[in-house]
Amino acid sequence: MEFSSKLLENAVNEVAMLPGIGKRTAMRLVLHLLKQPNEQTQMLTEALTKMRNEIIYCQNCHNISDNVICEICNNPSRDHSIVCVVEDVRDVMAIENTRMFKGIYHVLGGKISPIEGISPSQLNINSLIQKVKENKVSEIIFALSSTMEGDTTNFYIYKQIKEYKVNISTIARGISVGDELEYADEVTLGRSLLHRIPFESSIKPM
Ligand SMILES: [Zn+2]
Repeated sequence: MEFSSKLLENAVNEVAMLPGIGKRTAMRLVLHLLKQPNEQTQMLTEALTKMRNEIIYCQNCHNISDNVICEICNNPSRDHSIVCVVEDVRDVMAIENTRMFKGIYHVLGGKISPIEGISPSQLNINSLIQKVKENKVSEIIFALSSTMEGDTTNFYIYKQIKEYKVNISTIARGISVGDELEYADEVTLGRSLLHRIPFESSIKPM
């Protein structure tokens, strides 16, 4: 792509760094912003900068929060002994929308992926295992997407907690393999939480 301006080229390159956005789409978005009043670009950059600088992750569950302890962890009517393990904030929002879950979450911040170079130490796994070791948890529910990375992550955690006195289950899959949680409809997701199965019976023979 030949640019008539270095400023335009820089902006397009930055926007094109976002996932799912190619150079053409980036160009369209940048040109759109140029046609809008200056304030709109300012509001956009301010919102992003403010989010980036001020965002807090809950000390207990690692979910994105406005406070040191998130609203879910702070809610005394939730069952703190039932912990649903998810990849990120989108999964928390999807499960909250079902209104079927009264426990708390543990947000891993990703999945183990050798291909993408994501190792267990880069995820919030140790703090989860610590909670189990400290007898704070009666049940762990795995709710990661059923991709190879999701299965690998579940199994990695399972191996480290199976000796402890904790029930380990996984959400039943009404959704096809590879579907991301956030795309599952609320009824299906709620049902798969309700009909969760013991993790051990879900492990495929290797
Ligand atoms: Zn929390």
